[in-house]
Amino acid sequence: MKSHVQVAVIGGGVVGCYVLYHLTKLGWPDVCLIERSELTSGSTWHAAGGFHTLNSDPNMAALQGYTINLYKELEAISGLTCGLHHVGGITLADSPERMDFIKAARAKHRHMGLDTHIITPEEIKKLSPIVNTDGILGGLYDPLDGHLDPSGTTHAYAKAAQIQGAEIYLRNPVTSLKQRPDGSWDVTTKNGIIHAEHVVNAGGLWARELGEMAGVFLPLHPMEHQYLITDDLPEVFTRDEELPHIMDPSGESYLRQEGKGLVIGIYEQDCDPWALDGTRLDFGHELLDNNLDRIGDALEFAFKRFPCLEKAGIKSIVNGPFTFAPDGNPLVGPVPGLQNYWSCCAVMAGFSQGGGVGLSLAEWMIHGEPSRDVFAMDVARYGNYCTKAYTRNKVRENYQKRFSISYPNEELPAGRPLNTTPAYTIWQQQRAVFGQGYGMEHVNYFAPEGEPLEEIPSFRRSNAFNAIGNECRAVRTSVGINEVHNFGKYLVTGACASDWLDRVMAGKLPQLGRITLSPMLSPSGKLMGDFTISHIAENEYQLTASFGAQDLHMRWFEQYLPAANVTLKNISMSRIGFQIAGPKARDLLAACTRFNVSHSAMPFLSVRKMEVGQCDAIVQRVSYTGDLGYEIYVPAEQQVSLYHTLANAGVAFDLKPFGMRAMMSLRLEKSFGSWMREYKPDYTPMETGMDRFMDYHKDTDYIGKAAALAELAQAARPGKTGKRRLVSFIVDALDADVVADEPIWKDGEVVGFVTSGGYAHFSEKSVALGFIPTQMIVEGAAFEIEILGEMRPATLYTACLFDPKSERMKA
Ligand SMILES: Cc1cc2nc3c(=O)[nH]c(=O)nc-3n(C[C@H](O)[C@H](O)[C@H](O)COP(=O)(O)OP(=O)(O)OC[C@H]3O[C@@H](n4cnc5c(N)ncnc54)[C@H](O)[C@@H]3O)c2cc1C
Repeated sequence: MKSHVQVAVIGGGVVGCYVLYHLTKLGWPDVCLIERSELTSGSTWHAAGGFHTLNSDPNMAALQGYTINLYKELEAISGLTCGLHHVGGITLADSPERMDFIKAARAKHRHMGLDTHIITPEEIKKLSPIVNTDGILGGLYDPLDGHLDPSGTTHAYAKAAQIQGAEIYLRNPVTSLKQRPDGSWDVTTKNGIIHAEHVVNAGGLWARELGEMAGVFLPLHPMEHQYLITDDLPEVFTRDEELPHIMDPSGESYLRQEGKGLVIGIYEQDCDPWALDGTRLDFGHELLDNNLDRIGDALEFAFKRFPCLEKAGIKSIVNGPFTFAPDGNPLVGPVPGLQNYWSCCAVMAGFSQGGGVGLSLAEWMIHGEPSRDVFAMDVARYGNYCTKAYTRNKVRENYQKRFSISYPNEELPAGRPLNTTPAYTIWQQQRAVFGQGYGMEHVNYFAPEGEPLEEIPSFRRSNAFNAIGNECRAVRTSVGINEVHNFGKYLVTGACASDWLDRVMAGKLPQLGRITLSPMLSPSGKLMGDFTISHIAENEYQLTASFGAQDLHMRWFEQYLPAANVTLKNISMSRIGFQIAGPKARDLLAACTRFNVSHSAMPFLSVRKMEVGQCDAIVQRVSYTGDLGYEIYVPAEQQVSLYHTLANAGVAFDLKPFGMRAMMSLRLEKSFGSWMREYKPDYTPMETGMDRFMDYHKDTDYIGKAAALAELAQAARPGKTGKRRLVSFIVDALDADVVADEPIWKDGEVVGFVTSGGYAHFSEKSVALGFIPTQMIVEGAAFEIEILGEMRPATLYTACLFDPKSERMKA
């Protein structure tokens, strides 16, 4: 055993082996894998071995495609077989909503480059005669689906990594981890200590324990899962061809051929989180007790869907645990707050996702960032708000909903409310319908008297449509109030605050009392954030960005923070308040403060400390609604006081509350992008129009400068304006607006994709934002956007729908 390595990967399940393989493939051969027992000793050995590309996140789906396409290469390198069966798969739809779901998925796949098809019940029957198609309306066929041998595949990865230089130490549990002052780790194992520059937690069922060894809680939990293998069936063995996989969402089941019989696995609704207090260290190649009662109803359903099952004998039953994060996606990347400690766990579909996970992690370690945005599986998408119990509640819900329809307007109920602001009860009294993001409750909209206190999940315009429209109109015609707790906020102070910010941000820093908007870039020139920077006082700045990106941004800031003279604090929860927006916003503010808030005293993009009511507030003249507006921040404990000041004065101005749905509608008619929709690490400033906030040539060597200047130079060459650009469309929509990832068509070809959109209520237009090739940008040009399987005409426009000269915002 080596005494020093560059990377120690802990865990010899399929995921650890994928990581080891990719590290060596990308050029780091001085790596080892440490396994407690034999390879595949966690959840890997009892997996059903199915793989598929379906994932609601396009990059996750692409990485799943990468995983599947890699198996052939792996077999060639290792000389071992993965036992591949590329049989294709069908997801059944037995209701109009499920048809909408598969049509929406199919549309997304077009721009993801996945070759899926909607097929008829007759075609389903032809491909898989064992399906009873009564009540089936159609299906989504994916030719890439299939299954493999889990143990053979894991060993093939291990062998390929060894061929490329890695070492594997079996029967050697890691018992503790200790960090040295330089950030490297002493990994204590049964057979001695290994000094590793980096540690990867690929502990699967024991990932929680490996996290604790480094003092962190990783939000994941194991769940029990059962599948049955039948005896040989004539409906199977008399066929010449292997049957395709069938996913039956209504039955919460998946089914595939296994030899001459079938395997059916069930995502039980009556399900149990496993090993609440941790996974036994000596848990090994053993299964859990069967619990057929838990799947009785699902089996009865399956007997109707697949009649041949009813008379089939059961050869064996597998009940095993595997791990999930609250949203079902993996937890990958550098763990915030720790140096050189990498998470690679909660990979619940190892044979679909493992390759993409291993590739992304290896790129991240070796190149400093993954080659595409992987926020959907970044461990930093969760923060400290995730308690153990909340994690369990969400994991259980996710497991139950594994095969359910996910609606774009759906708010999942488990574990709520968790975090609330003091204003929560005020909104409740006003019939608020809440959503949740990053553990925090926020108002989506206010339900009028007599209407249900919930938004009914739908792919089409929902029951909330009119209420949201009224909120938008109230903002545009008088003044609206909405909470500003839903921003991530950071306080940057100290003698070197300006210098540091100038290096981290790619835009101009504001003068004292002023605000600028600025992109934050990665070294490769991709967007890492879109920030509002407020220069509040000498050596004091407030940064505002996406609430859900707090851990992402804190991890990034800390990576570049100098040792002295800059203090950085996340104040997202402690400094909250309200925004007021609309033509009467200034009159309302003036009625609540003795300070001068006239345009000359407080122009657009200025920030002031002032009294508002009894509170010492920070007031920013800026609004994401694109209207005359102010954000008013106070200490959290004074939020209620601030509310009453504004609400009492607001009676004279017809002040109305509005929620996040209205805010997103208002920003659409200004063509304002939003983080993780229009702006994310896949895109550059120039592609997104964020170049208007860049200070390309400033003296400071800001992060991403070389790449940004290269993009600028490339675009300045005659005929070269960059490959793609974010643009806006008016869509001739019916009762469904775009959500995200719909393909944009021109002359029968997919030429781009939607990033977000919806109904712009005040302008009374259905809007889509999305990327298309730069040379296609012509005012009024006709395109088509595929919404739920239907081609809808879409017209490109370049000036925003509301107040194109921004006279209202700057008034
Ligand atoms: C019943 C069932 C059916 C499934 N079906 C499928 C399917 O069809 N398709 C699919 O893609 N996925 C399926 N899965 C999920 C799949 O099994 C997991 O995604 C995958 O196994 C995760 O692999 P892993 O490497 O992350 O974790 P694990 O397999 O749990 O591996 C972790 C490894 O880390 C080692 N380890 C832990 N702690 C230490 C330590 N302190 N020191 C050294 N080593 C340590 C363990 O011994 C173990 O070998 C199924 C799971 C179950 C339970």
